[in-house]
Amino acid sequence: MSNAVPGVKHLIAVASGKGGVGKSTTTTNLAMALASTGARVGIVDADLYGPSQPRMLNLSGLPDTTGGKILEPMVGHGIQTMSIGFLVDEESPIIWRGPMITQALTRLVYETRWDNLDYLIVDMPPGTGDIHLTMAQKMPVSGAVIVTTPQDVALLDARKGLKMFVKVNVPVLGIIENMSTHICGKCGNEEHIFGEGGARKMAEEAGTELLGELPLDIRIRTGSDSGQPVLVTDPKGDLAAAYQAIASRIVRELEALETEKVTHGGSQIMPKIVME
Ligand code: ADP
Repeated sequence: MSNAVPGVKHLIAVASGKGGVGKSTTTTNLAMALASTGARVGIVDADLYGPSQPRMLNLSGLPDTTGGKILEPMVGHGIQTMSIGFLVDEESPIIWRGPMITQALTRLVYETRWDNLDYLIVDMPPGTGDIHLTMAQKMPVSGAVIVTTPQDVALLDARKGLKMFVKVNVPVLGIIENMSTHICGKCGNEEHIFGEGGARKMAEEAGTELLGELPLDIRIRTGSDSGQPVLVTDPKGDLAAAYQAIASRIVRELEALETEKVTHGGSQIMPKIVME
């Protein structure tokens, strides 16, 4: 059974097949793009193996707890955030075993006092593992967004990630192609250094949307790594506009799903896991 998350209207998973494709960076900027439209937005950093949201949102320290149990989200650039990175030492590795993963993820999602959120975005770990299954089986995920780069290897893994969501009945809202082109910092020339059109083709094959393409741009890199995302440093710039366009497509896809649910008169279909 999946229980509603208190204080949250929509749970959106941001996933990738591979690590390093810019999933966390995209999550942070998308959260801020959604917030720039007046929505109330939070991020739960479900990448238990390599939490990055504290750094991306310039947050540190321990979250407050009420009565020793419920966690107060940390707020960075207006985004309510909870991450395992606040609760454990960044330098010490944790070895996660099956049941611990479910427990930790459930605590981060259900035992944080989310304050009236329109969207809670889940920054998933790369790949298709226990965390994905826990999310799909136990949590009311409204939809998943897949982030990929244009290289063939990344696309191959992204396709696997997409298929996993389909299999567990989590609606795929669409695909984002990150590092789609490279913009030369000196002359502004734009090049498809990793190949062209891969994510679009993948979206077409899977019957889903290409939500947008983001360039490989030094401003995105320095912004996210210094805790000052481009949505903060240049909220009216071209990159902010690109994230905002993707955010509004995600909202549109979610609305379309809601309408579909109402017209079919059913509540959310429970995900079933089919082993092959
Ligand atoms: P993932 O979450 O997929 O492991 P990250 O979001 O941590 O990936 O990104 C990996 C690195 O790539 C980070 O240093 C980040 O700043 C950088 N990066 C991500 N997206 C872009 C982009 N569009 N342009 C430039 N650098 C990027």
